Amino acid sequence: MSNSSPASQTSNYIGRFAPSPTGALHAGSLLAAVASYLDAKSNQGKWLLRMEDLDPPREIAGAANQILQQLNSLGLEWDGEVLYQSTRLDAYELILQQLSNKDLCYRCDCTRPQIRAMGNVYNGACRQRSNAPENEYAIRVKTADVDIGIDDLVQGHYQQNIGKDIGDFVIRRKDRLFAYQLAVVVDDDYQKVTHIIRGFDLIDSTPRQISLQRLLGFSTPNYGHIPVIINDQGQKLSKQHFAPAIDSNNASQLIFLALQALGQSPPANSQQESAQDQLSWAIQHWDIQAVPKLANIPDTTIQDSTISDTTQI
Ligand SMILES: [Zn+2]
Repeated sequence: MSNSSPASQTSNYIGRFAPSPTGALHAGSLLAAVASYLDAKSNQGKWLLRMEDLDPPREIAGAANQILQQLNSLGLEWDGEVLYQSTRLDAYELILQQLSNKDLCYRCDCTRPQIRAMGNVYNGACRQRSNAPENEYAIRVKTADVDIGIDDLVQGHYQQNIGKDIGDFVIRRKDRLFAYQLAVVVDDDYQKVTHIIRGFDLIDSTPRQISLQRLLGFSTPNYGHIPVIINDQGQKLSKQHFAPAIDSNNASQLIFLALQALGQSPPANSQQESAQDQLSWAIQHWDIQAVPKLANIPDTTIQDSTISDTTQI
């Protein structure tokens, strides 16, 4: 897949969309896909697609391909090859070695109840142990008492004290799977991503990711966090909460509703136009300042008529 922007309009902007194949796209992931696509294309940038398939127990057979088909039907064309995180394990292992060689991480076998008893901010109990656990252990990266902030493109300033608010965090899990925080940082650097537009639920991961970028000498991309869509029980739409898959047969209506949910003002009659034509309009008129500065918006924004009855794949 490649975009047909003329060479004269290329820029250094590299954006990405990074779904997990735990299910088909739902209204929430659609919004993140559309927002990241439009921000990239309106900046004459590239829009990469990364499949975050690092957690086999949570993945659903066929979901990755279904996501690709849905994006195609919606007219969301990515640039270059899809990067599958499952092919990147050696790269993550190498980074883990680097951190270990610099004494920036350590083994921890604390249990969930023990961590709850610490008030959910890990207190570094295993940092100083002389007898590191040998069998089942997570690997945590050392954090410091330092404020890490972002000037979010949508939400404005956001910051955490990484040591006090988060504490030493897990970069490889007890089940030996690489943690999201490590993989995403390694791959954003590998793919030279300059702009990350994604859901608000990830804003509190961002200081962790920046702290890893600093330890590894990577540059920090720009971030923008768009509202996530919640159901009528206030839960983020997700496979775990049985969010219905979007029905890409309704591509025109879905794109129209997504643009509205993102605070854009597509002409009312453009609902009759193809998804591709609406996206072309939206690339010309994209205004990230118009995206609601909210943590979440209700799923009634993207109505039931666009939702497939066959929610399970
Ligand atoms: Zn521990």
